[in-house]
Amino acid sequence: MSESSAYVHSVASTPIAPSDKAQILAQALPYIRKFHGKTMVIKYGGNAMTDPALQKAFAEDVVLLKLVGIKPVVVHGGGPQIESALKRLGKKGEFIQGMRVTDAETMEVVEWVLGGEVQQDIVGLINQAGGKAVGLTGRDGAMIRAQKLKMLDQIDPSIEHDVGQVGDIQSVDPAVVQALQDDAFIPVISPIGFGENNESYNINADVVAAKLATVLKAEKLLMLTNISGVLDKSGNLLTDLSSRQIDALFADGTISGGMLPKIAGALDAAKSGVHAVHIVDGRVPHVLLLEILTDQAFGTMIRSH
Ligand code: ADP
Ligand code: MG
Repeated sequence: MSESSAYVHSVASTPIAPSDKAQILAQALPYIRKFHGKTMVIKYGGNAMTDPALQKAFAEDVVLLKLVGIKPVVVHGGGPQIESALKRLGKKGEFIQGMRVTDAETMEVVEWVLGGEVQQDIVGLINQAGGKAVGLTGRDGAMIRAQKLKMLDQIDPSIEHDVGQVGDIQSVDPAVVQALQDDAFIPVISPIGFGENNESYNINADVVAAKLATVLKAEKLLMLTNISGVLDKSGNLLTDLSSRQIDALFADGTISGGMLPKIAGALDAAKSGVHAVHIVDGRVPHVLLLEILTDQAFGTMIRSH
């Protein structure tokens, strides 16, 4: 064993004194009281979704939040899982401005993988941790109506990109989510919408989470990702961002790929009345508990102005 791993091991296994444990638990009280009965929309993505220890910690956190009277709603992504399913079929995923180009065959894969495999894995993990999760896609309860996304080029808006069956949300009816929340259930939502002719749309999960948070008048929107938060040009963490700072980061190309729809959604939610919007590091075990029930802050907070 190397010196550093021996160090990590000894720190991790150091017992916490009972008085410290009591203090830590007691410090959660004001947060539990403040957030009791409030809705929190959690975008589950990044490493937290693929690492077994992080998956388990995530499911436990969601169940604990529910048991103390908070109403968690989980919206999941599944980029890596879609990628590996496409690879098995000999297809390669392609992205334009952070959106997956979705032809008919890719759409089928997205529906199986997100609405089937990934969703049911999350439902299973939450149930194993003692919760009652219910999986839904945007079709269930006629929740997410969408149309084909018209994607204009970020630099030259006279150019339009065809990204196939990527959906632009037209409306969200949260009735089914509310009905489940009012009961003992934890909704787990796959980002798939339906169109006027019953066609399916693949919608970026960050965009769905942001819209749901707005429609549900959520207290918080937390987006778990595979990075410490939004980084500046030199790779430093930006702990909070205003709308004007975001415009500048878009304009100079600091924000790219999957961070584009994430920040756009986060800003929309913040401007539409969601009190706290955070992009957080899903690689930190129990980041949900730390973020919601302690005074610790992780990642980037998005301000409404
Ligand atoms: P998720 O599963 O969380 O949606 P994405 O890959 O879609 O993950 O989005 C997160 C990725 O966005 C990061 O891993 C990073 O590669 C990319 N990214 C682009 N610009 C930035 C930036 N300025 N700060 C942080 N991440 C960025
Ligand atoms: Mg993404």
